[in-house]
Amino acid sequence: MEEKTYPIPNVFLATDTQKPIPHCIQCDHDLMLGDRFYMIEKIFKKYPNLEKTEILFEYAVCVTCYEAMKDKLSVESRDNLANYMLKEADFESLMKRIEKHPDEPEAWLTHCLFKGTPKEEMTEFQVGAYFKGDRMVTNMLPPFLVGGAATEEMNALLSKETQDEMDDFVGQHFGIPPELRKDIILI
Ligand SMILES: [Zn+2]
Repeated sequence: MEEKTYPIPNVFLATDTQKPIPHCIQCDHDLMLGDRFYMIEKIFKKYPNLEKTEILFEYAVCVTCYEAMKDKLSVESRDNLANYMLKEADFESLMKRIEKHPDEPEAWLTHCLFKGTPKEEMTEFQVGAYFKGDRMVTNMLPPFLVGGAATEEMNALLSKETQDEMDDFVGQHFGIPPELRKDIILI
């Protein structure tokens, strides 16, 4: 994919300020300096009775910290995740959506990357994308949406050792409680 960049889509702005998320959640690096790639992940939960979609949490993490987090994975977990990605990710459909709406990144985020389930049919899903400064980049991985079912499957691929380490690491550094840790995916 060519190195095209985009303004940060609204869905990836900080919910409270509607501005770019300014700092890495772990090292507090100033992401607007634009000297480091970073990833934003936002996890949504839909409460059907309230007909409302809530954000469980959102964060930005710089590549340096993200790589450190990935290094915590055991070799087994890493292999399992790489295989899952290779076998289950439907990049073809994602590319079709991108071709259809080349300048509307939010229109790419309508279906689970792995299961193809439409967003409207899911009670829990997350979106993620890579950025540099105030631009979204697509050369590493285009923005993606992953539903709760796929997140659960990926979580089950992590060894027990990795799950424990991730709970500690994420709790300590991200201030994210262990019960939400399983919602974080490492792509
Ligand atoms: Zn960082």
